[in-house]
Amino acid sequence: MKLTVFGNNATYPMADGACSCYLLETAADKILMDMGNGSMAKLQRKIDLSSLDIIIISHLHFDHMADLFCAKYQLETRRAKGEKIDPVILIAPMLPDWAREELLNNNVFRYIEISDGMVYPLGKGRIIFTKVVHLIESYAVRVEEDDKVFVYSGDTGLCPEIQTAAQNADLFLCEATMTESENIGFGHHLSAKSAAVIAHKAKVKKLLLTHLPTDHKDRVLEEAVLHFQDTEVSEILGEYAF
Ligand SMILES: [Zn+2]
Repeated sequence: MKLTVFGNNATYPMADGACSCYLLETAADKILMDMGNGSMAKLQRKIDLSSLDIIIISHLHFDHMADLFCAKYQLETRRAKGEKIDPVILIAPMLPDWAREELLNNNVFRYIEISDGMVYPLGKGRIIFTKVVHLIESYAVRVEEDDKVFVYSGDTGLCPEIQTAAQNADLFLCEATMTESENIGFGHHLSAKSAAVIAHKAKVKKLLLTHLPTDHKDRVLEEAVLHFQDTEVSEILGEYAF
């Protein structure tokens, strides 16, 4: 499998940055996870939106889904101009009526609503969704195929569910919204230390940090490696094969 990062800024994009967006390429599928602000511009440097097989939205905060709307506009515009574009599978939590009306007309997406524990079959593997602790309904995403396991935390606070979801992952893409010293009692996000402790307890092979505070990425890494050695901070347009 290979992961490409198109956005890793927490909460809002910095200048020339982008919020959460990750492409996982398996043997047969291109799976995009989240489409935060600014990510669509980055994504198009490397892939064509119409080549995606599945788009997963972990939760409906705008820093994880805002660019999904413009992606839909692009695909329906291209189709209206005569291009043959198949519907893309969209897996997301229950959409409110206004988003459903905006996204699901014109058959651009084939929508599947996530529920806790849902298993979506892939050709030689599966995707498992686990509800985690956040301000709104939010899911961790675990992709298993052949003998490889990828896990994305989505946005989560410290909870047993994220450790279970991450168990034995080859690559664990985990949010680290702050350092421990900056944690002012947030129960809905992880510090770098918490992400690293989860990685250690879940026996993952590699931890890749995302959803980063934009002004002090170095401190996030320094804190995490104290608790889990094989940690890296994600870079926008960075590629991570495993
Ligand atoms: Zn969130």
